[in-house]
Amino acid sequence: MKKCNKIQGSIDSIESMGLVDGPGIRTVIFMNGCKLRCKYCHNPEMWKLKELNTTPEDIVKRVIRNKPYFSKNNGGVTFSGGEPLLQPDFLIETCKLLKKENIHIALDTAGCGIGKYQEILNYIDLVLLDIKHTNKQEYLNLTSYPIDESLKFIKALNDSNKPVWIRQVIVPGMMDNERYLESLLKTLKKIKNIQRIDFLPYHKLGREKYLALNIPYPLENIPEMDKEKTSKLYEEFMNQYKTQKNRNCQESEYKHTEN
Ligand code: SF4
Repeated sequence: MKKCNKIQGSIDSIESMGLVDGPGIRTVIFMNGCKLRCKYCHNPEMWKLKELNTTPEDIVKRVIRNKPYFSKNNGGVTFSGGEPLLQPDFLIETCKLLKKENIHIALDTAGCGIGKYQEILNYIDLVLLDIKHTNKQEYLNLTSYPIDESLKFIKALNDSNKPVWIRQVIVPGMMDNERYLESLLKTLKKIKNIQRIDFLPYHKLGREKYLALNIPYPLENIPEMDKEKTSKLYEEFMNQYKTQKNRNCQESEYKHTEN
């Protein structure tokens, strides 16, 4: 008799031809559930876990159809949401099956799940890590949740040494200033194996969803972030980041030759 796999997951939707959530062409699985309430979230419809509506086998069947598109530039699957880490068993089981098919797996996360991080990361090829805020109190103000869980995830991520792409949303008045960018430099210094950093200008595309869900839009009085200003900030930040990185390399080489 065929063994019945009881693990199920709750997903919102699947996008077949994602181009912005990792390298190459990707199938993006939007998973339901998130403990954070980021004021700029544009997916409030995915906050609740909702009913279980899929299985790891279903997901793999749908992903396999897109496999021919994955061959160029490390395309594959990205788990996004919501927060994929909130469904660890479903995520692990699905990743195991995807790995049997030799499919590249990216995890788009704010690092705020319920544990099993090491086990999950074993199957992940790339982590797209959202930095919400570097300051404990401001993180809480922005997300309505304490920073500690995401720090736990970052610790596990460092232990795993998996490649990381950093994503930082830039909200006017919150992150577009020197003080914040200096603290971001310090935060990134503590994360290993960063391969790429992106600044994403805050936009109001999710506003209509809040209205439809009857939720007050939290950043009503904040304007969208200017794209050109974001590019400038990014350029300045990356110059400082590269300088910091070179300095660290020289220091560690120096320590190495000293030993
Ligand atoms: S972590 Fe992502 S899904 Fe969750 S509230 Fe923040 S932006 Fe929305």
